[in-house]
Amino acid sequence: MLFDTHAHLNADQFEEDVEEVIKRAQKQGVSNIVVVGFDERTIKGALEIAEKYEFIYAAVGWHPVDAIDMTDDHLIWLEELASHPKVVALGEMGLDYYWDKSPKEVQKEVFRKQIHLAKKVRLPIIIHNRDAHEDVVKILKEENANEVGGIMHCFGSSLEIAKQCLDMNFYISFGGPVTFKNAKRPKEVAKEIPLERLLIETDCPYLAPHPFRGKRNEPSYVTLVAEAIAELKEITYEEVIEKTTENAKRVFSIK
Ligand SMILES: [Zn+2]
Ligand SMILES: [Zn+2]
Repeated sequence: MLFDTHAHLNADQFEEDVEEVIKRAQKQGVSNIVVVGFDERTIKGALEIAEKYEFIYAAVGWHPVDAIDMTDDHLIWLEELASHPKVVALGEMGLDYYWDKSPKEVQKEVFRKQIHLAKKVRLPIIIHNRDAHEDVVKILKEENANEVGGIMHCFGSSLEIAKQCLDMNFYISFGGPVTFKNAKRPKEVAKEIPLERLLIETDCPYLAPHPFRGKRNEPSYVTLVAEAIAELKEITYEEVIEKTTENAKRVFSIK
């Protein structure tokens, strides 16, 4: 049983064959998937898939790259969706200093608003962070995000940052990069942090693990992430998938 905690089956890349992709994942032992929506269109897509498949759940939020497009009405809509039976988290949200579509100040504002909302509706949050490590941690601290906790998705920051996130009640999730030969940081962090706080994800269709790097990623490849973690931590594959699935169910409050 594997839990892919972050998948974009709602992306255009899956339009043609999402059913086969889901079947392939099940065949590889993937028991649960959280489909993440990050703007109006992909949130609708995430809900549609989660409503159709009993073992698939949805997370809804506003991506920092598109922060500039989020209106107050969108925020009200997110609040309504929080009570949807298949919505298990808010996000992805956070900061992305790599792309410059949305100014930093706008990103920060939209991030803070969503943390407020999460505390109000009592849902964990999924954090996207690209090249903004210090500011993400600063905002999580200032907004007391530890009250809801959540997931640092596709973690690529330092061990020092990881420890601060653990202290704030967050889980650390690893995706394809942990399988890349030259990815020193995620490997080091995965090795050091306790298995009880570790999650696995694909972030598909992006960031396919080795040996599929550069190709379209899909939930069945989460097995490769689990294998890499087993090797790094020098434990069995079975232990990794059992513990990470248990962790995911705990963070998302899934029975
Ligand atoms: Zn992301
Ligand atoms: Zn994502």
